[in-house]
Amino acid sequence: MNYEYLLIRYAELSLKGKKRASFERKLEQNIRGALKSFPNVKTNRSFGRMFIKLNGEDVTKVSDQLKDVFGIYSFSPALKVELDETSICEAGLWAINDALPSGEGTFKVSVRRTNKNFPIGSQEMNRVVGGYILKSMEQVTVNVHEPDVHLKVEIREEAAYITCKVIKGAGGLPVGTSGKVMLMLSGGIDSPVAGYLALKRGVTIEAVHFHSPPFTNERAKQKVEDLCKVLTKYGATIKLHIVPFTDIQTAIHKQIPDNFEMTVMRRFMLRISESIALKNGAKAIVNGESLGQVASQTLESMYAINEVTNLPILRPLITMDKLEVIDYAHKIDTYDISIRPYEDCCTIFLPAESKTKPNLDKAKRYESYFNIEEMVSQAVGNIETITISQEENNNSSFDSLF
Ligand code: ATP
Ligand code: MG
Repeated sequence: MNYEYLLIRYAELSLKGKKRASFERKLEQNIRGALKSFPNVKTNRSFGRMFIKLNGEDVTKVSDQLKDVFGIYSFSPALKVELDETSICEAGLWAINDALPSGEGTFKVSVRRTNKNFPIGSQEMNRVVGGYILKSMEQVTVNVHEPDVHLKVEIREEAAYITCKVIKGAGGLPVGTSGKVMLMLSGGIDSPVAGYLALKRGVTIEAVHFHSPPFTNERAKQKVEDLCKVLTKYGATIKLHIVPFTDIQTAIHKQIPDNFEMTVMRRFMLRISESIALKNGAKAIVNGESLGQVASQTLESMYAINEVTNLPILRPLITMDKLEVIDYAHKIDTYDISIRPYEDCCTIFLPAESKTKPNLDKAKRYESYFNIEEMVSQAVGNIETITISQEENNNSSFDSLF
């Protein structure tokens, strides 16, 4: 005997009707995408449940891939057996042996019978299966409060399913069920984590990166491409828009007083991001800001910078401490890429001191010397767009976060 199925439990069970159907369809599609490198695996949905039939693929390897798929609350390796008492008892015994290889420990049995044609009630079946295990394994005992292994038997129309391990999923909503957002992706630690958390709520992402050659080099660009590649593991294909930003930065450096450079530069970044978002059907911008982390992330700065757009700006890290963000970055495998030492365009030219409480009217007055529309459309007209697709077999060592 061996585990042949994985039983999937959905997150966000409160979804109803049409919304639920599209949630399930998308989840199944994403699971297939994540398991592309296991060609024998088949997915199947019925009565609000999803099963993965392993067809000989390795249960541990498939489980490792599944842990990264948003929309899964938890999943369990399962045995499927015929609807008769003996088959169920034997499968139960096999599962307990598998979970307690030393042959010692405690267990509990819970039977759920949705198939009322099955002749034995669930209470009675609890006793039958439990008794069979106790008789067959001398060193195990029952503990209903804190068992080492919780054996679950589901008696359904078509078969009985036996599980005893629950593996935590990534939670959230299936990517592709919440629309599209534009992620402002620097090469730093924060913005890839922000992208990951946005994906968790079911959006697809495109990314925008501001690049200022020759002050920022090809390796900085490569770093952002590599970060996108990691993010595709949790989502799907990502389009990365690289914006040539040198001319705008140089103009700002020449004409804007030092302590307002940062505010004006960020306002330009946001205008350009908005324009790319609208062109590509994204309904919001996501960035990696965290309140009070640096001068551009005070409330006063956000007020002065945010003023250029009406698009919602989602800031998944807004309440997080840097250490919490770093923790995430390690878990999602972006940290090592993020700390590669290449210059980001935000750090070039900028004075040591930026205004932490920039005045919006002043920023607007300084900008009034610019032909803003032309600068924005020129940058947008010259973007380079790279499509980064999901790699097959990019196994992660990521333990579930939720
Ligand atoms: P990160 O680690 O993401 O770089 P940070 O703490 O260094 O974050 P800032 O450099 O102040 O923060 O940037 C704040 C946010 O602005 C970033 O999280 C990112 O969303 C966006 N951003 C900064 N630089 C760029 C860039 N070159 N291209 C695209 N977005 C950027
Ligand atoms: Mg940065």
